[in-house]
Amino acid sequence: MMKTGSCNNGVNTSPAIKKDVIIIGAGAAGLMCAIECGKRGRSVLVIDHAERTGSKIRISGGGRCNFTNLQVTDDHYLSRNPHFCRSALARFTPPDILSFVENHHIAYYEKEAGQMFCVKSSREIIAALEQECGRAGVEIRLACRIADISHAEVFTVTTSEGAFSSDSLVIATGGLSYTKLGATGFGHEVARKFRLKVTQVRPALVPFVFPGGDQRIFKGLAGIAFDSAVTIGRNKFRGNILFTHRGLSGPAALQASLYWEPGDPLLIDLLPALDIHGAFLSARQSRMEMHTLLAGHLPRRFVQTWCDHRIVSKPINQYSDKELKEIAQGLHAWQIIPKGTEGYDVAEVTAGGVNTDELSSKTMEAKKAPGLYFIGEVVDVTGMLGGYNLHWAWASGHAAGQFA
Ligand SMILES: Cc1cc2nc3c(=O)[nH]c(=O)nc-3n(C[C@H](O)[C@H](O)[C@H](O)COP(=O)(O)OP(=O)(O)OC[C@H]3O[C@@H](n4cnc5c(N)ncnc54)[C@H](O)[C@@H]3O)c2cc1C
Repeated sequence: MMKTGSCNNGVNTSPAIKKDVIIIGAGAAGLMCAIECGKRGRSVLVIDHAERTGSKIRISGGGRCNFTNLQVTDDHYLSRNPHFCRSALARFTPPDILSFVENHHIAYYEKEAGQMFCVKSSREIIAALEQECGRAGVEIRLACRIADISHAEVFTVTTSEGAFSSDSLVIATGGLSYTKLGATGFGHEVARKFRLKVTQVRPALVPFVFPGGDQRIFKGLAGIAFDSAVTIGRNKFRGNILFTHRGLSGPAALQASLYWEPGDPLLIDLLPALDIHGAFLSARQSRMEMHTLLAGHLPRRFVQTWCDHRIVSKPINQYSDKELKEIAQGLHAWQIIPKGTEGYDVAEVTAGGVNTDELSSKTMEAKKAPGLYFIGEVVDVTGMLGGYNLHWAWASGHAAGQFA
């Protein structure tokens, strides 16, 4: 039976209750791992300081949870070792999570390019995970605070509900993003305590903040979105950009944030599907105003702001060839050096984490600390937008669940 409980304040001093496996973190990775361990007959305790399981699953994909992507490969992940995730991904594939979803009669659909979403609500996935935990005999303790972790012959986890010990300890506490949902750097601290390296972490899949001048110019456009291509270094992302009160969001900007370091410029093609210089030349003799021509291809309010601040709008036949070239260049390669990002409060993920050199790619076990496992977002494996992060949580949880 799955049991849940809430904590009493104060640390209990009675002898440790023994389990085969303790998993810290009742998110996507932790619950998947618990199910797999439980199915192998292991006694499993999942501990979380939050009052509910799967808080991030609940808000993922706008509440409908983009739970996988049919195109999952290691190419969709960033890590210091880009091949680390390959083994786990090969053993738990998109069809595996689709069967799980189908077995629980959860309706899903492909939104675009392999992105699989729940039709109704991500709560259905959480309910399915809880149900499978129940079937596998997993005990879940929520609102339970961890005071200490130690290791001698076994791992001992001292909590607000007493001490628990286990042969295997799985850390599935996620990253630092969305602090309001209980995200902490706990997993990174545990790694350091066991002398494992942690790579530099930063918020990713996060909106950009414009420098002050651009912020004032573009803040009136908040809510406007259109197709674009955002280039950062050697990576180019096609998709919508969305103006916010302080900067830029939308899929193409969020993806670019995965690669962005302070000071890096973004180059934005505002008309990726059109040769705007060609369009100017076709209208070369026309007396049509520039803003009228542009408004045929871009949202009118954006064009108004662009014309007010970047170019002088006049009839097309009054521009010189050089001017037309420069305007086209500005629209196809708008350069911005963001002031920063909106940070962990709104970032979808934390890039970086427990250094993959420290872990077995087959089992997720720490090479220097047998019995200690790290899974999900706490590891230095970060997926692109489109269901890849949840898929990594399932796949790494599944991998550790065969061994912990
Ligand atoms: C707004 C938003 C939308 C997203 N949408 C998508 C999407 O559609 N598709 C996608 O693939 N990914 C999406 N993601 C990313 C995805 O949700 C995460 O990558 C994934 O949930 C990570 O799973 P996890 O199990 O590793 O960690 P988490 O889901 O973060 O779970 C960690 C658990 O550990 C617990 N915990 C943390 N610290 C402690 C502690 N000290 N003691 C005890 N417990 C602790 C937390 O309470 C939490 O329950 C989104 C993220 C956000 C923020």
